[in-house]
Amino acid sequence: MATATSISAETRAKYEPVIGLEVHVQLLTVSKLFCSCSTRFGDPPNTNVCPVCLGLPGALPVLNRKAVEFAVLASMALGCRINERSIFARKNYFYPDLPKGYQISQYDRPLAEFGAIEVPSAKGRKKIGITRLHLEEDAGKSLHEGFADSAETTAIDLNRTGVPLVEIVSEPDISSPGEAYEYLTRLKKIVLYTGVSDCNMEEGSLRCDANVSVRPRGQKEFGTKTEVKNVNSFRFIREALEYEIDRHIGVIESGGKVMQETRLYNANEGKTYGMRSKEQAHDYRYFPEPDLLPLVVDEKWQAEIRRTLPELPEARRTRMVADYSISEKDAEVLTASKTLADQFEEAAKAAENPKRVANLVQSELVGRLKARNLEIEQSPISMRGVAMSADLVERGAISGKMLKDLYDLSFERGKDFPAVYEDEGRPQQSTDTSALEKIIDELIAANPKQVEQYRAGKKTVLGFFVGQVMKASKGQASPQIVNQLLAKKLE
Ligand SMILES: [Zn+2]
Repeated sequence: MATATSISAETRAKYEPVIGLEVHVQLLTVSKLFCSCSTRFGDPPNTNVCPVCLGLPGALPVLNRKAVEFAVLASMALGCRINERSIFARKNYFYPDLPKGYQISQYDRPLAEFGAIEVPSAKGRKKIGITRLHLEEDAGKSLHEGFADSAETTAIDLNRTGVPLVEIVSEPDISSPGEAYEYLTRLKKIVLYTGVSDCNMEEGSLRCDANVSVRPRGQKEFGTKTEVKNVNSFRFIREALEYEIDRHIGVIESGGKVMQETRLYNANEGKTYGMRSKEQAHDYRYFPEPDLLPLVVDEKWQAEIRRTLPELPEARRTRMVADYSISEKDAEVLTASKTLADQFEEAAKAAENPKRVANLVQSELVGRLKARNLEIEQSPISMRGVAMSADLVERGAISGKMLKDLYDLSFERGKDFPAVYEDEGRPQQSTDTSALEKIIDELIAANPKQVEQYRAGKKTVLGFFVGQVMKASKGQASPQIVNQLLAKKLE
């Protein structure tokens, strides 16, 4: 990765980065925040608009109940306290994609406050505070390319105007780009579990701005911060922060002053560029929105929403370790997404040995999906297929090697495991023991010393023989049958 200047590790160690993140998440409502226009992504430009979201004179906003419920649910999942009474406010500024001349947001009375997300850090686990979560409407989109006259003109699409967002603001508790990455990954996972957003970064359903400054270690006051805007992947945010931190240190070390400004990250070059100076903080002239009543989410409504809160990743991990006797690490991988966790549990319940299902999903399924860039939802092998294959191995009907081959065929043909197993004529690993017995007899004759040790009580020698038989059968023999035959012949 490119760096601003060549900052040595020693110089870097003299400074402490201070990072705060602002994340915008689009809520998965069918209609917009204050009107009944559709929120569908990808519709022809300016087709999902009405007088309310166009800001025509006299049009009045009506709050979307579902958006409030989703925002409250997200707040609860992030450990926030819900303010029973919150206030919508007008944030005034001019921008071509904002026809009203103001955005309806929340200011000094946000919907929720005081949450936290726990992340792993260099010193064990660390809590990153969430200052606030508030509801607001999105602005439209300026289109700078894709038209014949794009060189001279900018087009505006107002379909996105008024789409419901929550803005989640962290405390400046984050002290490295790695922690920022962990925070974002966990935030996304938690929000996905609640189902209130699809967090699709390509479609702009999740956007992140990062504030960063550095200060000499031990100093209390913050350094001057810059804001990196509109970075479209968590990996790029980590890279942009790494670049910015080194750039700040470089400026300070050479006797300069960091300028307060907004910067854009160019992922191809791995560099940030100044976009606009922020010497004077924007004055948005916030005032309470006169067309909307205060939002009241009373205890009864809160309790109703809390009942719909699903089991969250952390709790689910702990429970899965207990329920299926799998390791912490297994549980971490298997709860990566709600879908994966749901699917695993479905298979684990259907199969004879949940631990084998956990191993199969991780070693045979996830790897094959990754190699083909597929999501778990697109897997040719269903969880019914995984459960069935796990049981076949468990009972010794097929070997591990046969399972791998059948999985490969499933992926090649895009067919589920049970179908491929049928197509292949329900293959069985050899249960014809005569061939195996011959191998075993030969092994016993060739290894009198080990046979003597076994008969003298050193039962671990059995493992040596099992290994030799498996090798001789090229992995096709059933370990269970080999074990039985060996035990019988060695006695
Ligand atoms: Zn509308």
